[in-house]
Amino acid sequence: MSAVHEDLREGGALVLGAGISGLACAHALNRRGVPVRVLELAQRAGGVLRTEVRAGFRFESGPNTVPASARAFRSLCDELGIAGRLVVSSDVSRTRYLFHRGRLVALPASPAALLASPLLSAGAKLRLCSEPLRRLRSRAGASGAEEASLEAFLEERIGREATRTLGGAFVRGVYAAEIDELGAESAFPRLVAEARAAGGLVRAMLRNKRAAASRETQDLPGPASGSRSDLLSFPDGFEELPRALATVLGEDLVLGAAAEGLERVGERWRVITPRGSFEAPRVILALPARACLRLLEPHLPAGATRPLAEVRQASITVVHLGLDAGLLPPGFGFLVPPDAALRGPAPLALGVLFPSNLFPGRAPEDASAVTCIYRTQDLAKVHDPLEQARADLALALGIERPLPRVSLTRVWNDVIPRYAVGHRARVEGLRGALAGSAPGLSLAGSTFDGVSVEDCIASGRGAAQAALDSAAEPAPIRTTNP
Ligand SMILES: Cc1cc2nc3c(=O)[nH]c(=O)nc-3n(C[C@H](O)[C@H](O)[C@H](O)COP(=O)(O)OP(=O)(O)OC[C@H]3O[C@@H](n4cnc5c(N)ncnc54)[C@H](O)[C@@H]3O)c2cc1C
Repeated sequence: MSAVHEDLREGGALVLGAGISGLACAHALNRRGVPVRVLELAQRAGGVLRTEVRAGFRFESGPNTVPASARAFRSLCDELGIAGRLVVSSDVSRTRYLFHRGRLVALPASPAALLASPLLSAGAKLRLCSEPLRRLRSRAGASGAEEASLEAFLEERIGREATRTLGGAFVRGVYAAEIDELGAESAFPRLVAEARAAGGLVRAMLRNKRAAASRETQDLPGPASGSRSDLLSFPDGFEELPRALATVLGEDLVLGAAAEGLERVGERWRVITPRGSFEAPRVILALPARACLRLLEPHLPAGATRPLAEVRQASITVVHLGLDAGLLPPGFGFLVPPDAALRGPAPLALGVLFPSNLFPGRAPEDASAVTCIYRTQDLAKVHDPLEQARADLALALGIERPLPRVSLTRVWNDVIPRYAVGHRARVEGLRGALAGSAPGLSLAGSTFDGVSVEDCIASGRGAAQAALDSAAEPAPIRTTNP
């Protein structure tokens, strides 16, 4: 028989998943005095935020950076008292490369540099430069059926070559996806909205650039940063953030507590885990799509959970290498455009980062840290990801295969959702179905509201606010231990 423990504090919410989305949600509820339990499958908090230290190297197996303009991220750091620990990326990190025709070519930082760059043909440059002359019609939002693919949207604006080379590389870096797999508004809602408001992409970028200098980072907590392309992290790596959140949450964070079942009990929800069952009137699911699907299916009308079944997710293999110093060019790292392999041998990696060029403390004094990022499916025929990483570096840097002092490979399964055409509309539909059939349940995180750390924090905080707004009557959390 189970022993029943009743927690008599008023109100209450259960947050499922202690990735950054769930932690940010729980922290926001906690700050408002709502009793909260975070139930996490793993024995550590943070989800994909993971810093790994080996032989004096500090490797990020998840995110390496957030932009200095990340408002929700900086506010959260402020609330946790760690905004003063944020470090700004070095000036060198502003240089980014594309692998192009067998070598690394710096991405142009200005329109003049673009005209001189070998990355695009003369025809493609002309097409790109004429974009401001072809006005983009403003449109008040789009339903799923109307949404263009990201590839079609960009191609119509900047032409095929720039879309494939610049857009395709960027999308691989963010979503580990190809540009034709994503919906324009679903994957980049702000970009599309700003382009529509400004009448075109170039106009939107110029408008943003002008506004950014005056507003973006100046009133935000943490270090001042000189450029909108500056990036942030922590001296001890990104995992400082989930660690700080876990410390504040204390015993309200329950590790090794996979949500295995969800039951309606009167006006409340019961979550079944190996650590016991937990009850509360509100449950926020900050989980991968498949876990949400399993839990929600019994509570929604047939077909309503289809959006979850349809979300495709990229599995990622990250290969870290600790190398001798002097092998890397100055810069952030490089991306490999989708068509690179059509023009000769190309790295299999989607992108490669040079973390020791970005922040101090990523490698010993006489060494460099390198992180190669692969779609796991692309490695299907590869015997050893480390050998592939060495070969990719040799090809891109024009050197012999580097012999690492230390290496580390981490595989993340089904970890970055691909927002296909109609994703946003489908998520809205799912949220509507939840409100109608399963009041008290809500969704947060990268499966739904954006994949960046900034988007995930904003999503978690938004879900907390919505839970607070909808709370009719405070009710206690009840905990049942097996
Ligand atoms: C390699 C990589 C590099 C990235 N780089 C960047 C970057 O530089 N900048 C950036 O902004 N973003 C980056 N991202 C994206 C960003 O880090 C993620 O989208 C974001 O951290 C996802 O957070 P989340 O909380 O929504 O999901 P997750 O981190 O996936 O968390 C979900 C949590 O739910 C738990 N869980 C699963 N099932 C259950 C269950 N049944 N019950 C309880 N718990 C469960 C999991 O264990 C996990 O802890 C990167 C992502 C990856 C994979």
